[in-house]
Amino acid sequence: MGVPTGEVVARPMVARACGCLREFQHYAVDRYRAQRLAKFQKTRCEVCVEKLNTEQRQAAAVVPKKGEAFRLLPEAAQFALTRKADASWTGKLSANGQTVEAEGDGPHGLTLALARAWLSANGITAPAEEGEKPAAPAPTGAAKHPAPKPPPPSARPSLSNLPKKPG
Ligand SMILES: [Zn+2]
Repeated sequence: MGVPTGEVVARPMVARACGCLREFQHYAVDRYRAQRLAKFQKTRCEVCVEKLNTEQRQAAAVVPKKGEAFRLLPEAAQFALTRKADASWTGKLSANGQTVEAEGDGPHGLTLALARAWLSANGITAPAEEGEKPAAPAPTGAAKHPAPKPPPPSARPSLSNLPKKPG
């Protein structure tokens, strides 16, 4: 179903999946116009596709992947999962004296959600993959209105000073 060649006989503006109006070209000879139009309306415009891709890349660089999330948790981290009456699950993750809670459909996804929540709460992110570093905020020398930041907790855990068992 390629783009047909030939004379363009109409260029109506059509709303795409993202809500943007884009020009849809009617060709004089086009056996697949209905299909092309359906696909056109079901897909995002090129601007929104690009935006979405960028957002997904940035999210992927920050949210640790499954195996990575569990690996980044500190020693003695403990999960506590409880099945509820409606077959959903509630869970807690305690590590370094901090506890996060979450709910989920099953223990598998729930443990991952908890691990990510804990890491996020402690400012621990996955190391960026090679060649894809998250954009560091540009230093603004004369920022008139710096964003209010909560003071970092004094006992902020970091990967470099985790307690280690001797021997
Ligand atoms: Zn769009």
